[in-house]
Amino acid sequence: MSSTRLLFRDDPYARECEAVVLAVTPEGGIVLDQTVFYAQGGGQPGDVGSIERADGAEIPIANTVYGPDRSTILHNAADAANVPQPGERVRLRLDWNRRYSRMRVHTALHLLSVVLPYPVTGGAIGEGEGRLDFDIPEAGLDKADLTEKLNALVARDAPVRERWITDEELDANPGLVKTMSVKPPRGTGRVRLIEIEGVDLQPCGGTHVRRTGEIGRVAVTDIEKKGKQNRRVRIALA
Ligand SMILES: [Zn+2]
Repeated sequence: MSSTRLLFRDDPYARECEAVVLAVTPEGGIVLDQTVFYAQGGGQPGDVGSIERADGAEIPIANTVYGPDRSTILHNAADAANVPQPGERVRLRLDWNRRYSRMRVHTALHLLSVVLPYPVTGGAIGEGEGRLDFDIPEAGLDKADLTEKLNALVARDAPVRERWITDEELDANPGLVKTMSVKPPRGTGRVRLIEIEGVDLQPCGGTHVRRTGEIGRVAVTDIEKKGKQNRRVRIALA
């Protein structure tokens, strides 16, 4: 089966696209030739939205995930009985408000990893909020102080860009990547880096806003002790 073109990677602001149905799994996973739906990964949930058939009928999409070989993306129909046929031309529509909120939270988490320059052991994005887990030996973290630092970076309105480098370039320049919280995916020969100009550079496959100013005001809402060497830091959009 051919692979799915990831339109969300080149243009995270694309809300709609046309696509052709390549296959449908028995569980209602719709495989398309291209998509604007982000597939669950790196702590960011899969997109939701709908697929419109040629006759105007709407198919609600409950989640988006990678297929077992990771070269295709499955758009999971909310009702496995309500799916299109292979070969059909359809129109995809993202739940944009939800996605945009996730893009803002996701980019804010990059900034949090700058404010707290410690190894990251985990992370997740929810609705209007997110968290990172840090390997920090002792606490002494102050919510108000971290909030202030985070908002100072947001206020810089720094541009957010993507850059691709080869595996060899990455190996030759380990210092190029400041935060190796998530191991960059290997095997394709290229690694995608996200650069927040003058602030941060790290491998990431997620969706980001164009400038940090788009994040808007954020707050550190909770700092939780998760074991001796671990602190879970939660942030929320204002
Ligand atoms: Zn990212």
